[in-house]
Amino acid sequence: MLQLFIPLGFLGIVYRQIKYALADMDLVFKLLEREPEIVDRPDAKPLRLSEGGIRFEQVDFHYQPERKILHGLEFAIEPGQKIAVVGHSGAGKSTLARLLFRFYDVTGGRILIDGQDLRDLTQASLRAAIGIVPQDTVLFNDSIRFNLAYGRPGATFQEIERAAEMAHIRAFIESLPDGWETVVGERGLKLSGGEKQRVAIARAILKRPRILIFDEATSSLDSHTEQAIQQTLSEVAEDHTTLVIAHRLSTVVDADRILVMEQGRIREQGTHRALLEAGGHYASMWELQKREGVEALP
Ligand code: ATP
Repeated sequence: MLQLFIPLGFLGIVYRQIKYALADMDLVFKLLEREPEIVDRPDAKPLRLSEGGIRFEQVDFHYQPERKILHGLEFAIEPGQKIAVVGHSGAGKSTLARLLFRFYDVTGGRILIDGQDLRDLTQASLRAAIGIVPQDTVLFNDSIRFNLAYGRPGATFQEIERAAEMAHIRAFIESLPDGWETVVGERGLKLSGGEKQRVAIARAILKRPRILIFDEATSSLDSHTEQAIQQTLSEVAEDHTTLVIAHRLSTVVDADRILVMEQGRIREQGTHRALLEAGGHYASMWELQKREGVEALP
């Protein structure tokens, strides 16, 4: 009887391990399911990246044909410029980022990088040129060193340390009992929203992309953390063409141009100062926030 018990106990352990592995697979499939398959054209060419200028020309988009999301969007981001997009929840801001990264193809019009239509390019070359700091960063159940290095496999430890330094997360990492070998993620140390964003910024720094997309976290960070992240982002954004999906006013004030989106259309655009002077929608949003003392955009 005892003999029978031991193997069964052992099987129990194996079963639990398999269950964990399957739970992970489940997650992977769920993630995969979310993105429809974009396939490279047979004659797709690698992106010839020069300055990193972006152009949206009459872009239409829908996820489902019965519900149009973007209507004839037209704007350009000159090389090295920082453009911020603001607007109510559901206006279509994050959709712009998804189209630029080509998780989806436009349903009308076109998007160009340095004059090349994204649909003519290989996805690998496009994604190598773009770094994304997403709203919610996915962390692997692995060491924090591994999680940062993911930005550029093959980076040296010195480069990883330097990126962590620039993202203002190095001191935090080195203060942990296990330092760089600390396991993070679901089954390890849980990082705060601000810490996760810094990991994402460090990854983007390591990747050194020409184009940077920053999808600002909607969840509120304390104002000290937010300021620090803001500062880091401004430093990193220098010399990059940057698209910021903004939820807070502090992010947009220094942008070269602000696009104010409403129901999939650009309602206004200009610098913070010009939009205030125009006295339109942005100006009333600004006034409203000042009166209410609210920091976040609607
Ligand atoms: P928020 O400020 O809340 O992040 P947003 O302006 O970034 O909002 P988007 O995420 O671009 O808005 O979404 C625009 C619209 O598209 C929303 O109405 C949303 O419900 C819809 N949408 C977004 N993703 C999908 C999807 N995968 N399938 C179907 N509809 C979607």
